[in-house]
Amino acid sequence: MPSNVTICYIRGDGVGEDIWSASHEVLEEAVRSAYGGEKRIEWIELLAGQKALDHSGSLLPDETVEAIREKKVAIKGPLTTPVGGGFRSLNVHLRQLFDLYACLRPVRYLEGLPSPLKRPEHVDFVIVRENTEDLYRGIEWEEGTDEAREVLSLLKERTGTSISADSGIGVKPISRGGTRRIAKWAIEYAIKNKRKVITVVHKGNIMKYTEGAFRKWSYEVAEEYPDAVSFDGTEGKILFNDRIADNMFMQAILRPEEYDVLLCPNLNGDYLSDACAALIGGLGVAPGANIGDDIAIFEPTHGSAPKYAGKDVINPTSFLLSGAMLLSYIGLPEAAAKVERAVESTLRSGIMTYDLARQIQGITPVACSAFGKEVKKMVAQS
Ligand code: NAD
Repeated sequence: MPSNVTICYIRGDGVGEDIWSASHEVLEEAVRSAYGGEKRIEWIELLAGQKALDHSGSLLPDETVEAIREKKVAIKGPLTTPVGGGFRSLNVHLRQLFDLYACLRPVRYLEGLPSPLKRPEHVDFVIVRENTEDLYRGIEWEEGTDEAREVLSLLKERTGTSISADSGIGVKPISRGGTRRIAKWAIEYAIKNKRKVITVVHKGNIMKYTEGAFRKWSYEVAEEYPDAVSFDGTEGKILFNDRIADNMFMQAILRPEEYDVLLCPNLNGDYLSDACAALIGGLGVAPGANIGDDIAIFEPTHGSAPKYAGKDVINPTSFLLSGAMLLSYIGLPEAAAKVERAVESTLRSGIMTYDLARQIQGITPVACSAFGKEVKKMVAQS
């Protein structure tokens, strides 16, 4: 009898169904074939988002939360969040609820992918984004509300700060403790994975006591690793440096070869993830993971792309590569490598969904499901 590997999954909203349908058999095949049929994935479906609301009247049912707590690992598709009102982001809520403080987003160029860069093969970044603090805490008050007025008058009274009365207000907390643990996580990740440079990406020239402090506290942590980290490029050690965020966006495009691990506060990491994904073909190929001390949720970087929902055109690569990250995390690196190799050879052979195909002359796009089938075939052959 094969032994079961239990994995919780949430299909997600919008294109979530398309990418799940195209991907889950690939992951099953990778586990089956990597271990000669001795291991098998047993999926547990959990509900969240619109599907959960329709089914149980709750966007995030208790059973979903309990199952993730118990099983400790899950993979999810994207969940829709209304803009400018309505409920707060479930994605952000899940990260805060389980204290998944490290968001890990590898951005690596794969042969055959389209890119606006002349030498895209230099793009091999790992974005490590603090995942629980910053403006993502969602502490904000709408313009004209009693709370907003009270905050404004408190600021005026206590600090003499005058802010226009017709302002909405948001609070940006960045703590010493939160920064220290993500900096430690990034350094230990870099040591374990033999990465060469860690760059803190901040806007500390403007936001001195939040982003500036993020930079300062990160350096303090780095100083605690004298055997592994240097600040001057000592041979054999990880170079620890920093860049102001706006400059970093330019550097990523002009000098990608100089960057490696990008350690970011929450919002910078969010912006930078999509921008870096654009260098290697787009959001369709950018995987991700939200990792805490004992729970991890894997998910593509992209959102629910409602325009393409149910059309069987979207690119499932980012979900597949997130699945590979999950397999590696739970101690099945051989299966993870099979998925990665199969995705790479499928793309290299010019089999691509519309998002990539439209950037390369002469490539006819395949459907989301057809791409999944090709990858599964490659997994079985490898
Ligand atoms: P999005 O990532 O859903 O889509 C932006 C564009 O990127 C799409 O129109 C499409 O052109 C392209 N794209 C995205 N995924 C793709 C894929 N797999 N293959 C090919 N092309 C792809 O971003 P959005 O439109 O800004 O957001 C839509 C919704 O998703 C919002 O409600 C947002 O809050 C939510 N969202 C969720 C997550 C998450 O679940 N973690 C992340 C980002 C956005």
